[in-house]
Amino acid sequence: MSNHRQRNTVISIALTLIAFVLFVSVSLFEELADSSMMIMVVGLLLLAASWVVYFLPGRSAPKEEVENVITVISCKSCGQIEERSFVQGDYVFKDMGQCKKCSGPSYIKSIYSISHKKE
Ligand SMILES: [Zn+2]
Repeated sequence: MSNHRQRNTVISIALTLIAFVLFVSVSLFEELADSSMMIMVVGLLLLAASWVVYFLPGRSAPKEEVENVITVISCKSCGQIEERSFVQGDYVFKDMGQCKKCSGPSYIKSIYSISHKKE
């Protein structure tokens, strides 16, 4: 995760340096005067690209810390408690059909999340 960030920073600095070298070349070498406009444009594009590389990943990258959501299913008759991963559509007090143990009515007792940070 931090390696990814570091690599982007390095790419960003490299692009900025290349753009800088292009700008300096244009002003130093008169032979480049003919294509100076094009080199300037390329330099500006590189600068823009370096900013995009530097800022985009930090903004759009998903959080590295994955939260694991657990659904607790409980039986009204025997009190049997079962935990499983959260499934889309789960909500507290949702009717979960027959209990595996006693065939009584079971429902979602609670939903909680645990962080993977400590593992
Ligand atoms: Zn039961």
